[in-house]
Amino acid sequence: MTLIADNLRAVHARVDRACAAAARPSASVRLLAVSKTFGPEAVRQAHAAGQNAFGENYIQEAVDKMVALRDLQLEWHCIGPIQSNKSRLVAEHFDWVHSVDRLKIAQRLSEQRPAHLPPLQVCLQVNTDGGPTKSGARPEEVLDLARSVAALPRLVLRGLMTIPDPVDGFEAEVALHQRATALFGQLRAELAMPQFDTLSMGMTADLEAAIAAGSTLVRVGTAIFGRR
Ligand SMILES: *Cc1c(COP(=O)(O)O)cnc(C)c1O
Repeated sequence: MTLIADNLRAVHARVDRACAAAARPSASVRLLAVSKTFGPEAVRQAHAAGQNAFGENYIQEAVDKMVALRDLQLEWHCIGPIQSNKSRLVAEHFDWVHSVDRLKIAQRLSEQRPAHLPPLQVCLQVNTDGGPTKSGARPEEVLDLARSVAALPRLVLRGLMTIPDPVDGFEAEVALHQRATALFGQLRAELAMPQFDTLSMGMTADLEAAIAAGSTLVRVGTAIFGRR
């Protein structure tokens, strides 16, 4: 057993316990392993321990890793901010993007998605708690954004991502996450699209609260790979 394999088992146990506490099936929450700043060897160890989906923030670093790991069947998720000049690399290499926060980037990703690849799976990053300087679409603009993104031919709109600022205490964390869950529910009702099924919410520090509030995908780095 490697340390990473042990860590993965511990994270799965946390997810299972949080699901049980929320009377949710364990299969209702996916684990995304956030491998940013760690090298291909760490990803390889996690894959050997059964992990297939990996999250990356820095586009060029991620593409280098994908090339080094070409022999493995991995699913790559972009979870970091995307500058316009990096959208082509994202469209050509990733399976998922969680960090779409404006229409212009979505349009570029759709135009640049190569024809031989399946459509890019995207979540809209929404800023449910912060001020005007935080990244993410504002909650009041996210329905219009969702409708526009859903109409793009080479994207499949899968849901929302949030990165709330840390707050003190489990109840406060749950309350904050519930705001995103409420918005997710509204959008689901308005859009009525079965593929809109993903609420990407919760990291190492707050995955229990995120699952209690209804997260369907937790993005965990530190608890799997160690400190960055
Ligand atoms: C780095 C990062 C994570 C993982 O954070 P940990 O606290 O290490 O689990 C999750 N989501 C995003 C968007 C990140 O940038």
